[in-house]
Amino acid sequence: AKWSDKQTEALAKLAKEFTLSTAQLEHLTSAFLDQMQSGLAGDHKSSDLAMIPTFVAGRPDGHERGSYLALDLGGTNLRVCLITLKGNHELESHSRAFKVSDHLQEAHISELMDFIAISIKEFITSEHISSKIVEHPSGSDTLELGFTFSFPVTQTAIDAGMLLRWTKGFSCPGAVGNDIVQLLQEALNRNEVNVHVAALVNDTVGTLLAHSYKHPNTFIGAIFGTGTNGAYVEATRSIKTMSHPTAKEMIVNIEWGNFDKDKRVLPVTPFDNKLDRESINPGVHVFEKMISGMYLGEITRNILLHLIDHRLLFDGTSSQKLNTHWAFETKFMSQIESDTSATLIPIAQILEQELGIYLNTQVDREIVKAVCQMVGKRAARLSAMATAAVVRRGLSVEGHFAGHGYPLKLSEGDHVFGARTGVHKNETATEGVHERTDSAVDHGGNLQQINVGIDGSVFEHYPHFKERMFEGLTELLGPRAKELVALGIATDGSGVGAALAALIATKHC
Ligand code: ADP
Repeated sequence: AKWSDKQTEALAKLAKEFTLSTAQLEHLTSAFLDQMQSGLAGDHKSSDLAMIPTFVAGRPDGHERGSYLALDLGGTNLRVCLITLKGNHELESHSRAFKVSDHLQEAHISELMDFIAISIKEFITSEHISSKIVEHPSGSDTLELGFTFSFPVTQTAIDAGMLLRWTKGFSCPGAVGNDIVQLLQEALNRNEVNVHVAALVNDTVGTLLAHSYKHPNTFIGAIFGTGTNGAYVEATRSIKTMSHPTAKEMIVNIEWGNFDKDKRVLPVTPFDNKLDRESINPGVHVFEKMISGMYLGEITRNILLHLIDHRLLFDGTSSQKLNTHWAFETKFMSQIESDTSATLIPIAQILEQELGIYLNTQVDREIVKAVCQMVGKRAARLSAMATAAVVRRGLSVEGHFAGHGYPLKLSEGDHVFGARTGVHKNETATEGVHERTDSAVDHGGNLQQINVGIDGSVFEHYPHFKERMFEGLTELLGPRAKELVALGIATDGSGVGAALAALIATKHC
């Protein structure tokens, strides 16, 4: 099968638009670091990164013990878990899901909270929880609970957060502007459930904490799922938005999905702009729209339609399904990219069954696969860019990743950083990425990896996503990026992470 000149030409043009060079990645990394810095300083005019202090000051090292409840409300399911930390990085978890009905999503907040309190009560009784509890953390028989609440809140303490607005179809009156923890605690008291709400956490923070229990060198938590976001460990003195910091370090929720929303540096294409305009939140979360599961399929669909309209694909014929907004799922891209056969017959099956495209040639299928590769690769490289920026901030700017007794060891002679190998000669960031502070250099001289805990279907299931991220990381952090950074799948950030936040809030680890 042979591509026509026009097809070759069109694909080359697209490839040019979607390929991110090392120089572009470098430029983006600098901008990301600048926006982190201004976000931490509270300068929201020059930063799209919210850099929210989470009041989680401390990380588990895997030796903690005890039983904690976790609650996860992020959509139509409410999940209640009992997490039993066994020490030595091991844990056990029991959980149960309760459906939040359409009625409850619009009912008064006290009705929703009563439902949650009663679900917790039911879970405790039906699961014979008391027999599974190894140790009551506070010595009393009140169970401590961590709450993963995946809606926008501003926190004023680890156990206090005001709801800014509802999203994802919820609209319960009486909640916006009020403290979610207090509302839940009141409902627990009303329903005589002996549980204390100790911590409120965002899912990214939960991911970092959960990974940290198993891999103590964890400094970054990231989500590459429906959306994308990251959290990391910052030196509290750098968080200028906090008035009286007490702890040395604190987890900061970057809210990186909103990076560069005015598209000053992100190389957006007309396909990205079309998607953004037609989205429910135009003009924000532009970075997220180039990376995450909710959007990648739609970008691909827009490109395929463009090629169809130029009669370069499927002989110029689309289908009803392919013409439908959001109908091309990111999962299809995973399936398409997985097909490595010579004739690409499996892709023909996806086109037929999922998209109603019955007539397609091998050239068509090759083009569809090439388009998925461009979009998928760009997403992975942008993900690598954000990760590399946070790694650089931690190591080069503050040096605090190593400064708190955690066993991160970097030797002076190690060429782990691009900076050491000359990759960053033209680095424009002002934060001294060329120089590591002394605290980043350990006397032991050994290099130990920084663990990044990651959750989300895109990272877990999209073929080559991780390898492509490592290609980007290598370009940005130097040839030894793989030794410096470990990307691992964090399990149950919203359950285990919330339980660990409750532990940190009540015990300090
Ligand atoms: P969430 O982020 O909502 O907690 P997930 O991590 O499962 O949940 O992410 C869901 C997103 O991942 C959806 O946008 C979906 O399109 C996408 N997705 C689901 N399966 C796959 C897959 N096999 N490959 C790539 N993306 C997928």
